[in-house]
Amino acid sequence: MIKNITIILMVLFCAIGYSQTKQKAKYVFLFIGDGMGANQVYATEMFLNAKPNEIKSNKLLMNSFPVNSNMTNYSASSYVTTSCAAATAMSTGFKTSNGIIGKSPDQKIAYENISQKVKKEGFKVGILSSVMIDHATPASFYAHQNSRNMYYEISMELPNYNIDYFGGGGFHYPTGKKGDQPDSYQNAINKGYTIANSQEEIRNLKNGDEKIIAINPDMYPSGEFHWAIDQKEEALSLADFTKKGIEVIDNDKGFFMMIEGGKIDWACHGNDGVSMVHEVLAFNDAIQEAYEFYKERPDETLIIVTADHETGALSTGINYATYPELLKYQIISVQEFKRKMEELKNTNPEISFNIILDVVQADFGLGNSDIGLSLDDKELTLLKSAYRKQFKGHNKVNADADYLSKTEVKSIAETAAYILNKKAGLSWGSGDHSGTPIPVRVIGKGQEEFSEYFDNTDLPKKILKLMGI
Ligand SMILES: [Zn+2]
Repeated sequence: MIKNITIILMVLFCAIGYSQTKQKAKYVFLFIGDGMGANQVYATEMFLNAKPNEIKSNKLLMNSFPVNSNMTNYSASSYVTTSCAAATAMSTGFKTSNGIIGKSPDQKIAYENISQKVKKEGFKVGILSSVMIDHATPASFYAHQNSRNMYYEISMELPNYNIDYFGGGGFHYPTGKKGDQPDSYQNAINKGYTIANSQEEIRNLKNGDEKIIAINPDMYPSGEFHWAIDQKEEALSLADFTKKGIEVIDNDKGFFMMIEGGKIDWACHGNDGVSMVHEVLAFNDAIQEAYEFYKERPDETLIIVTADHETGALSTGINYATYPELLKYQIISVQEFKRKMEELKNTNPEISFNIILDVVQADFGLGNSDIGLSLDDKELTLLKSAYRKQFKGHNKVNADADYLSKTEVKSIAETAAYILNKKAGLSWGSGDHSGTPIPVRVIGKGQEEFSEYFDNTDLPKKILKLMGI
């Protein structure tokens, strides 16, 4: 009898010990900085450290994580992936062709994604983005469509999987491209979702609330956040949506949360280095919220920070020189400066080049020799060409031996950003994605799983394994 009890006790102790060593990652955060390659992060660190004649290397939170490896991201159709093909790989474990969301390259198979899998096992799911919630990256974590451009179809599919919390941007075409389709917000409501789209409604969301779509009330009509650099102090940030999301879906079983910093990519497509830096900082603030959660439950929490691809073929340093301290003189996004120029054109079409130069100086610092940003003749010619195009309709360029002049005259905003980036030592190889592998930073339960060079299709497999699925 005593012998039997001893054996039973031994088995019990072993079982407890086994379950402790096999403790799962209950709370998983996957942060995707869209377009965020190593240099996007490094440029941001240089910006933070920037002081003239001083070289420092303070790290962003993500770069302080113990695991920092790399991941390949080619798609089924190209070494250079699009967001949806990369996000499909990261959510389903399958490669697909550029342009497709959650389906096979022949568009015949709809892959089950990580959100569906973890929901089946009783975990809660949150999907967040600073761009439209039906945009390529977030969409790939719930939808299955032949094209990423099928925004309306994606938004109609969104409520079908009982995902607990959507946060951030809105729907791109809630009533279809022509505005003649049934409203996709109403479709979500009909399927049991609550739309919270005022600061008060979002603030009042609480733990245990289900089927929530929390939309930033302060955003562009097309459904994405304003640029972090232009954001009003009181506006909700990606960090606010992350904090609220954690509060809403926190539960004893666990959760999976995907958070996208969507406009890092947009800034890089426009070669707007300073706006990119501010987007990375806003993304880093959102990571900080997850990190605060991790500090309370380090044995059960896993945070992964990565990207879908790099955008812009950005390099830091031109001819061994960088002057990141100059970047702080740009105080507006290229997009908002463009809008400002359009407004000026409408109110004062005869405005002189010299007045435009004053506005450029106020918003980009360019032309101010006291701060090291004087303009040489070539740069002035480039700006004048842009002015003549924008205000006078002239397309001819007078500048030479410059890549801008070899292609086309850009807007004043783009030209100013180009000149400032170059002076600061940021060099852009393109306005598109590049095929470079992307960094993966990890902290928490099972972090060692990610320590070796791997492919983006392995990412969801590793996460599911660590969650015990
Ligand atoms: Zn992308």
